[in-house]
Parts: sequence; structure tokens; C-alpha cells
Amino acid sequence: MIDQQTTISKQDSAKEIFQSQKKTALDWRLSTFKERIARIKLIRDWVKENKVDIQNAIFEDFKKPAAETDLSEVFPITSEINHTISKLGSWMKPQKVGTPLAMIGTSGKIIYEPKGVSLIIGPWNYPFNLTIGPLISALAAGCPVIIKPSELTPHTSELIHRMISELFKPSEVMVFQGGVDMAKSLLALPFDHIFFTGSPSVGKIVMEAAAKNLTSVTLELGGKSPVIISPEADLKDAAEKLIGGKYINAAQTCVAPDYIFAHSEVKERLILEMKSAIQRMYDPNFEGIEKSKDLARIINEKNFDRLNAMLKDAIQLGAKIEFGGSVNQRDRFIEPTLLTNINHSMKIMQEEIFGPLLPILEYSELDHAISFINANPKPLALYYFGKKGQESSRVLKETSSGNAVLNDCVIHFLHPNLPFGGVNNSGIGSAHGHFGFLAFSHQKGVLSQRVGYNNVSLMRPPYTTATRELISKLIKWL
Ligand code: NAD
Repeated sequence: MIDQQTTISKQDSAKEIFQSQKKTALDWRLSTFKERIARIKLIRDWVKENKVDIQNAIFEDFKKPAAETDLSEVFPITSEINHTISKLGSWMKPQKVGTPLAMIGTSGKIIYEPKGVSLIIGPWNYPFNLTIGPLISALAAGCPVIIKPSELTPHTSELIHRMISELFKPSEVMVFQGGVDMAKSLLALPFDHIFFTGSPSVGKIVMEAAAKNLTSVTLELGGKSPVIISPEADLKDAAEKLIGGKYINAAQTCVAPDYIFAHSEVKERLILEMKSAIQRMYDPNFEGIEKSKDLARIINEKNFDRLNAMLKDAIQLGAKIEFGGSVNQRDRFIEPTLLTNINHSMKIMQEEIFGPLLPILEYSELDHAISFINANPKPLALYYFGKKGQESSRVLKETSSGNAVLNDCVIHFLHPNLPFGGVNNSGIGSAHGHFGFLAFSHQKGVLSQRVGYNNVSLMRPPYTTATRELISKLIKWL
């Protein structure tokens, strides 16, 4: 299909496109299951045909290995699409609700109405997955969309623009590339829903802008996701999973383990297992991790400098490097680095790390780890390694986090039946599968009353003694 969008000058046309999508939104209110599925299938076909282009674009942006792109950018999209195709029929069906005695004679149902024109603002760290994933949910719900991908991944943003241009009219789905100014001018428009993925600080700006139009928001944010290693954990298994989960995408993952609380009885053994897991995964032939083709690079100089300064600050304040520690500014390489002797005045414990540094703290009483987690903003994910039982259920009950995983990390992102999202500082609302569909749908409660006399008629004025008695009984019994 001819690119219908490149000729349109970006910023000026945002309003115009928005207006055209308003019209589409009215048409799409009536869209059928088949029509929505057809739109979603266009994306699946395009992704399959252009898989190598996706790998190349993301490699150009931050040297992400092709296998990792397949696993964390392509597979989540194809599986989200397949899940949506198989379930959308049931999600769209109006849901009947039960009738309480006080409402006898009526019937109630919930209708899933598309919210309307939606804005998706994406981050750079999984630039394809985290813009196209929400797009699938929006299309499933019947919403036209404007997408603003991250300016920090120009190759992937251009590829997203190409894909959308080839598949949709601007009045259906449109991509506006650009940075903060572009985002701000889009945020001024009265969207029906905004789906934002990014940092908590920008999340606040998005929510403030949304408040001006009373636009609903889904905010997929970040934070410091803790790991608790109980004395009963299988340490080899835990180490393998932690290193795999932490270092995918060079640890630039919203749900990457941010810091570890290891029980004092097992901390040293855990560190040994983690070192050997890093060696096995990233340097099996002992040539140096920098030579590994399986480790992505830091996205840009600003983030490299931020992480380098964080590492220096930790060392200056007494942190001990257990593994790694080397950096190469030219290539924006930071070695997987395990740190101990951590104290809470270090920057590494005060902000989301979002990079290959991994502080390991120890605890002897679980209460201490739980109180520490509860004294800080609610994390996006919490990971517990140990036996399932009293201790793990204490952790689940006594802490609050967007998601929690027992005996693994990060992989919950791929579970289509679980809501994915944060709580307060780590996010508002949830994504994926049915939860993504609901994010872009208004759940309209519809009540049907019969014509003429009904039991509500008995409660109308004048409020005679008999009426008042009836109301009292209603309160007492129903
Ligand atoms: P970011 O908040 O800097 O940027 C995200 C998007 O917001 C970009 O498109 C950017 O152009 C736009 N933006 C930046 N400043 C803005 C402003 N002042 N006004 C309006 N828009 C603005 O985030 P990032 O650096 O791209 O991503 C990293 C953050 O995202 C981390 O905190 C990470 O944990 C989080 N994250 C969360 C999830 C999740 O699913 N919960 C997924 C990935 C990343």
C-alpha cells in the first residue's frame, strides 16, 4: 500500500488527524468482531513478513541481539495477537449480571463500549513491543489510535511509522514521531484514553495533562523491583533465573530485578552461583564479556553516564564489586556488575537502576526485608525465591507491588491471563489480554426496567407511614 502519511506535516496535522479519528471512532463503535480481528491480523502478517527489519532496526538502536528481539519484541506481539483473536468474541459479548431482590423485575448487563480516540506514548526500552502491544488492545476494543514512539530509538520509531503507514489510514491509526514537544502537543488534545509507558516522573506529567480533559489513563511505569532470596531457595536455579531476567536488554527492563535481599545464610553461595551464571551465559569461552554478541548496549550516552556515575558513587561510599565493574564509554558497554556492602545513602538504592548494576543486600529477619520494601514506593514487580508456604504467603500479603512472581522473574510479562501493571508510583491500570481490552473499553452498565408498575413504584412519594415502613424493611432485609 502507498504510504499515505509521509506527506502530512507532523505537529500541525495532529489536530486534524485527531478530528478525523473522532469520526472513525463513531464508525468503529459499531465495528464487529470480524472487522476488529481483520485489523489485528494485518499487524500479525506484517510482523511475520518484516521480522528481520524489526531485528535490524532495534539492533541499530542499541545493539540488541536478534534472538532477544525475537523473544522480547516479536513473540510478545504475535502471542498477544493470537490470544486476542481467540478470546475477543467472548470479551466483546455483553455480560449479564445477577438481579438483587430490591431490583426484581429488572435485568442488567455490561456493554463494552470502545472508549474512542486513544493516545499511546511509548518508551525506548522495548520500543516495538510496548507501542504495538497496547495498539492491539486498542484495536480489539475498537479504538482509533495516535502513537508517539520514543525519540531515543529512531530506527525502530521509523519502522513503526512505516508499518502503520502501510496498514492503516491516518484516520484509523497514525504515528507522530518526535520528542517531548511532540508528546506535549498531543497531550493537549482531548483524547478519550491515554496509554503511557515510561518513567514515574513523566507519568505524573501525562496524568496532569490528562486531568485537564478528564481523560482516563493507563500508566505503565517503573521503579525498584526487589528480590527476596529465602534460606530455602534453590540457589543455582535462582541465580540462573535472576541473571537471565536481569541482563536481557542489558538490564534496561522495567521489571528487571533492581536489588536483591539475600538471607545472610545463603548470600555468599548465591553470589558464587550468580557469578558462574553470568560466565556461562555471557562469556562461556572466557574471552571477556565485552565480546559477547548476546548482550545489548546502553541506549545512549546520557544513560551510560548516569549508570557510570551511579557505579562510582556506590564504590566511593564503600560498595564492593563482586563481579564485573568494567565499562567502555565508546561502545556504551557496562559489564554485568554485582555489588555488595551496600548502604541506603548510595544513589543505587535511591533511584531505579535500569542498567547492568545489581546490588545485593542481606537480611536475617524477613521482617526487615518486608519493612524496607514497605518503606519505599510500591514496586512494579516483586520476586521471591524459596519454598511456597508460610513465608512466601507472608511476603505476598504484607507487601504491595504491581505483580509478584515466586521462583522466577520477568517472565510474568508473557502470561496473557494475568494483568500486567503497577500500583501507585509504579503505575495505574493494567495491560495485556483481557485487561488491555478493558483499558480501552468503557464498561457501560445497562439496566432494563419493565414498563408500568414495579416494586420501585412502591417507594415513591408521598412518603406515607406504609411507604416509610417499606423503606425501613428494605434497609433491614436487603
Ligand atoms: P520516559 O518517561 O523518559 O519516556 C517515555 C515517553 O514519554 C517517550 O515517548 C518520551 O518522548 C515521552 N516524554 C518524555 N518526557 C516527556 C514530557 N516531559 N512530557 C511528555 N512526554 C514526555 O521513559 P523512558 O526512558 O523511555 O523509559 C524508561 C522508563 O519506563 C523506566 O522508568 C521504566 O521502568 C519504564 N517502563 C515501564 C514499563 C511498564 O510496562 N511498566 C515498560 C517499559 C519501561
